[in-house]
Amino acid sequence: MNKNEAKKQIKKLCDEINHHNYKYYVENNPVISDYEYDMLLKKLETLEAEFPDLITPDSPTQRIGGEPLKGFKSVEHKIAMLSLDNAYSYNELRDFDERVKKNVSDVEYVCEPKIDGISISLIYENGLFVRGATRGDGIKGDDVTANLRTIHSIPLRLQGSELQNAEVRGEVYFPITAFKKFNKEQEKKGEQVFANPRNAAAGSLRQLDPRIVGTRPLDTFLYYITYSESDLQTQEQSLEILRKAGFRVNPLIKKVHNIEEATKFCADLEAKRESLDYEIDGVVLKVNSFSQQKELGSTIKHPRWAIAFKFTAKQATTRLNDIVVQVGRTGTLTPVAILEPVQVGGVTVSRATLHNFDELKRKDIRIGDMVLVERSGDVIPQVVKSIIEKRKGDEKARAIPKKCPVCRSDVIRTSDEVAVRCPNKECPARLKWRIEYFASRDAMDIDHLGGQTIDKLIEKGFVDTIADLYGLTKEDLLTLEGFKDKSVENLLESIEKSKHQGLARLIYGLGIRHVGKFAAQLLASQYHSIDELAKKTAEELTQIHGLGEKTAEAIATFFATEENIELINKLKDIGIRTKEVKKEGHLVGKKFVFTGGLVSLSRPDASDLVMKNGGMVSSAIGKDIDYVVVGTEPGSKYEKAKKLGLVLIDENEFKKLVGVT
Ligand SMILES: [Zn+2]
Repeated sequence: MNKNEAKKQIKKLCDEINHHNYKYYVENNPVISDYEYDMLLKKLETLEAEFPDLITPDSPTQRIGGEPLKGFKSVEHKIAMLSLDNAYSYNELRDFDERVKKNVSDVEYVCEPKIDGISISLIYENGLFVRGATRGDGIKGDDVTANLRTIHSIPLRLQGSELQNAEVRGEVYFPITAFKKFNKEQEKKGEQVFANPRNAAAGSLRQLDPRIVGTRPLDTFLYYITYSESDLQTQEQSLEILRKAGFRVNPLIKKVHNIEEATKFCADLEAKRESLDYEIDGVVLKVNSFSQQKELGSTIKHPRWAIAFKFTAKQATTRLNDIVVQVGRTGTLTPVAILEPVQVGGVTVSRATLHNFDELKRKDIRIGDMVLVERSGDVIPQVVKSIIEKRKGDEKARAIPKKCPVCRSDVIRTSDEVAVRCPNKECPARLKWRIEYFASRDAMDIDHLGGQTIDKLIEKGFVDTIADLYGLTKEDLLTLEGFKDKSVENLLESIEKSKHQGLARLIYGLGIRHVGKFAAQLLASQYHSIDELAKKTAEELTQIHGLGEKTAEAIATFFATEENIELINKLKDIGIRTKEVKKEGHLVGKKFVFTGGLVSLSRPDASDLVMKNGGMVSSAIGKDIDYVVVGTEPGSKYEKAKKLGLVLIDENEFKKLVGVT
């Protein structure tokens, strides 16, 4: 292909992919399969690799940019991003309407859901997205262009020709369902969890590595054009133009003819609030006509032509009766507020998080205080602030504990961390978490060992480390309340069986920070034994494809700790498999996914066979999967694999491949 032809092809592919991107992410109405989409993208990537100088800034391949940033540049907004005046009741809305009507007549309003996200400004030049910034203080914000480019609902090139040079404003948000899933995964990995979707959106936009932002399912709603060459008359018309240009505009937005219709809109939307997959905290009311907006003007702080009606906050005040301290899996001590039970947005709340001791101190929250409690989405309620005016003088501050509340060890606090930790690896609180994690389905998969049983074992002093599980006797277990011959046998059998789960599951089960299931498999297939792995430096570990620096550091630290080495030696003595037999491997580096039931093998056995041969087992279908083993009644993974054109094999073919007949 000559260059001219390539240029035409690239342009055509870009347009096509951007169109489908729009259909998928903005209209939520894809017209081609994921597979077809990926194929188009692949075609484009191939062409661009051949002709790198033909890559355009709006190419869909350019969403996720290169290197992490050192910091964010501060940029000045061309037009200040004013905040809106608030109304907390319908009467205040009516007052607003009165003020408006004193200056202009025949007013129409546009009612827009007030998205509880992060405000952004996007600048387009000649139809190309050139700069994106956060609101900041309204005058200056952070340049987060690279991060915003990764959000698929933000067009890199505007559709049509009506908008070319413009600034548009809107909101970035973290969808609620995705937020819950994300937090769960973060928790599993021992990484930061966010208090609510808004914090998650803010935290994601502040990420210095756009590649990480690219993995976060951020979305947008745009609602305002500050300037453009179009001759815009009304807000309604602006929204229409935003839609046509390829932006996501909230579908619930409605034009109304008077303030009573507006209050009805507010009431209806508030009733619907919980059913939306994004958080809203009110309604923004804007005078529709731009000439009227101009007439009304702005005060120094707020435009006079708009107001934010705030829903009843999901907040309540109550007494804080106590502050207790919880110990997490990694030993982190977290202050938790015990509250006089109170209704917050229809739910009774008696506990709320105080996040950490720094925050507790900063907010000066004391035992006995009246406090403001807030609940957003389905996340854990939090204490926003204490109501200082109501203090009587006998309230007590909660000092940072010097000792772990569970094991009485002296706590530690490193200078670079907010967290206060119990350093005792055998702390019962930590121990419970560790055993639960070790026994979990994706790790050693020990059946019949639930949280309550673990509590009892620790209470009785039967287990001080994970290794002690393997020394439990029938006599021990029979002393536990509720345990009979059969349940004891079941548990002992599961524990015995777990010895042979294999290296990958063992590594995962050790609960090393940042090491998830996949990283564990990667490590197992690379090093074949726990001893080999333990010898590696962080530097050597980072050389494995797919392993990040933080993970490598965490692994090296783990194996540099004496207690951990002791534990591993104990596990080896017990006869737990800590080695993988390295086979001359046709499967080295190959990734497998199983879907449906196997007849002659159990899933764990089948996974073991893959790993023994150097391969890896993944739970997610993707383009990087080499073999999909299709059993009886395969699930959605099968459909997806077919779409992606992956290699599908049945049970017999699988057995041949791993060398069992
Ligand atoms: Zn402790």
